[in-house]
Amino acid sequence: CGIVGYVGGQSALDVVMAGLKRLEYRGYDSSGVAVLAGGGLAAAKRAGKLVNLEKELAERPLPAGGTGIGHTRWATHGGPTDANAHPHLDGAGRVAVVHNGIIENFAELRAELLAQGRELTSETDSEVVAHLLAESFSGDGDGDGRGDLAEAMRRVCGRLEGAFTLVAVHADVPDVVVGARRNSPLVVGVGEDESFLASDVSAFIAHTRSAIELGQDQVVELRRDSVTVTDFAGAPADVRVYHVDWDA
Ligand code: GLU
Repeated sequence: CGIVGYVGGQSALDVVMAGLKRLEYRGYDSSGVAVLAGGGLAAAKRAGKLVNLEKELAERPLPAGGTGIGHTRWATHGGPTDANAHPHLDGAGRVAVVHNGIIENFAELRAELLAQGRELTSETDSEVVAHLLAESFSGDGDGDGRGDLAEAMRRVCGRLEGAFTLVAVHADVPDVVVGARRNSPLVVGVGEDESFLASDVSAFIAHTRSAIELGQDQVVELRRDSVTVTDFAGAPADVRVYHVDWDA
């Protein structure tokens, strides 16, 4: 339902949690976060209100890092449980993905992954994306997303049907957040040596008022000092930075 991503010099966890709070008005049944730190990826997720996630983070703190993503979920496939909350990870725990919307062909993709011996741990339509991204990034399967998370995302998007906003991180590229948009909105916040992604500008308006609205069928690669937008085929897209002038 609500998505936040961050890369920069602040604590990603703090920025993402504050952003998720600003998105609470949208309604949700669970929430979760993932942070890249020390060459690895750490995640926490909980059914129920954000305070449940805060409690979990107080009991089992995540390592501090400058790259992170978060999600508030409104369940469509699989009940509101801890396991079904986002982020979803690949089997190796190197990729984390959050998703808004519905992946219509998830059953086929899921069957394909299970046939390859991959283990899925949720009942969501979203989890398949983490596995497909890991596969594409590593150069297995259809290959050529190798080492390039934005390219891996473009390749995965080409296989997905339905409406989706996706935001993902990979522990091998700790200074990158990627996002993709088909139908549901996704907005980039351009800061000074920091970048934001969210389903709604209110999530990052405390930090920057320079925003880029992603278009339909676009993928964005976010670094702290750059924002690169392409279509699903990899062709560069025109970006227009606008100023958010309302008070959130
Ligand atoms: N379809 C996904 C799920 O049920 C995403 C729901 C959402 O948009 O929050 O987990």
